Amino acid sequence: MSAADTDVLIVGGGLAGLAAARALEDADVDWLLLDAADAPGGRVRTDVVDGFALDRGFQVLLTAYPEAREALDYDALDLHAFLPGALVRVEGSLRPVSDPFRLPSRALRSARAPIGSLADKLRVASLRRRVRDEDPFAVPEQTTLEDLRALGFSERIIDRFFRPFLGGVLLDPELATSNRMFRFVMKMFAEGDSVLPAGGIEAIPTQLASHLPAARLRMGTAVAALHGREATLADGDELYARHAVLVATDGPGAATLLEEVDDPGSRATTTLYFAAERPPVAEPMLILDGDDSGPVNHLCVPSQIAPGYAPDGAALVSASVVEGGGLRAEALADAVREQLRGWFGPGVRTWRLLGAYHVAHAQPAQDPPALAEPVRAHRLGAGRYVAGDHRENASINGALRSGRRAAEAVLADIAA
Ligand SMILES: Cc1cc2nc3c(=O)[nH]c(=O)nc-3n(C[C@H](O)[C@H](O)[C@H](O)COP(=O)(O)OP(=O)(O)OC[C@H]3O[C@@H](n4cnc5c(N)ncnc54)[C@H](O)[C@@H]3O)c2cc1C
Repeated sequence: MSAADTDVLIVGGGLAGLAAARALEDADVDWLLLDAADAPGGRVRTDVVDGFALDRGFQVLLTAYPEAREALDYDALDLHAFLPGALVRVEGSLRPVSDPFRLPSRALRSARAPIGSLADKLRVASLRRRVRDEDPFAVPEQTTLEDLRALGFSERIIDRFFRPFLGGVLLDPELATSNRMFRFVMKMFAEGDSVLPAGGIEAIPTQLASHLPAARLRMGTAVAALHGREATLADGDELYARHAVLVATDGPGAATLLEEVDDPGSRATTTLYFAAERPPVAEPMLILDGDDSGPVNHLCVPSQIAPGYAPDGAALVSASVVEGGGLRAEALADAVREQLRGWFGPGVRTWRLLGAYHVAHAQPAQDPPALAEPVRAHRLGAGRYVAGDHRENASINGALRSGRRAAEAVLADIAA
């Protein structure tokens, strides 16, 4: 016999689960959140190693995310911005590619860089203007590569800029992802900054959790199976929800627990962190491999953006590899050092590996027609609901929004 433990049981305490909990708490509904991990945050966690803040996979918050603006207190997060644009390693040197609207003084240097033609750069500017005015989730859906070609971009700028840039953002250098996601992220880059919280990306879920009663966040509690509104825990215990079970795990986890949900597929990435005596570049910018020399697709120096990422007198280098699951961390680190020695000189040999994070499911795959419907259903019927980035789109914004919307569906059904 199971006890009637709560009105709404939330499974998963990533951003989606926390946003759902917030909406239920605000509505004064009884809820309990279960998460297998030791702390909330899901894919948005940070480890502190020797005084360095290592995000569990490099990621950034885009300040223009509409849902994040509502859900988060940006001032309290003490956000630090990247310089817009990127440094692109091409033909043996790092070339700045900047946004002519946001950094006019750099535009000329940018126009001379061998990344694409002047016409390409004008197309980037016109794309930025276009995405500001459109609903990205309403454009005809095709792959990002098809969209870039239809927009007239040359193969050179596609290979030297868009592949490494979107390889970093969408974890997809093949550009097979839905162009709706591409247009959405371009819009967000055009309308705001890329930022890191002062002490690591985990400040985001920590802030969300701080508004919730700690006793309702039950960590270290994995759900093994769901039957209707009853959850069987990994330790054999059972919990029953009077009104609703809201599954806010990642997509593959939801597909395991809910027969109504399909596994969305996964995009993987590996981030390696190195301690360096000094930063390899002065600019607080994203750095891209425009030569496809691999294994690193993109890197940055988080401590140049937000000083709290490294102790005084040291620099933290974050190097990201798309996939990268096949090699042991030390072997991958050697290959990364070898590549970056060609970029930054022999000092790279002294970089000390602090940590390596392979995230097999960093983002759900979003190949068309994944985003044909901008929002997939949150209500599955019979008191079962689902939230998570796989229901909207693979981003901090998508996860937060889907959690809120799933909770709103629960509340509407309770009120009916
Ligand atoms: C390396 C990397 C880079 C990224 N880059 C960016 C970026 O730059 N910008 C951006 O906006 N987004 C980025 N993202 C995506 C963003 O982080 C995710 O879309 C978002 O965090 C997903 O949140 P979620 O709540 O949907 O899922 P998750 O964060 O996966 O949360 C699911 C939770 O469910 C729990 N759980 C799973 N199964 C069970 C179970 N059976 N029982 C109990 N608990 C369970 C897990 O422990 C976890 O806490 C990146 C992600 C990664 C990993």
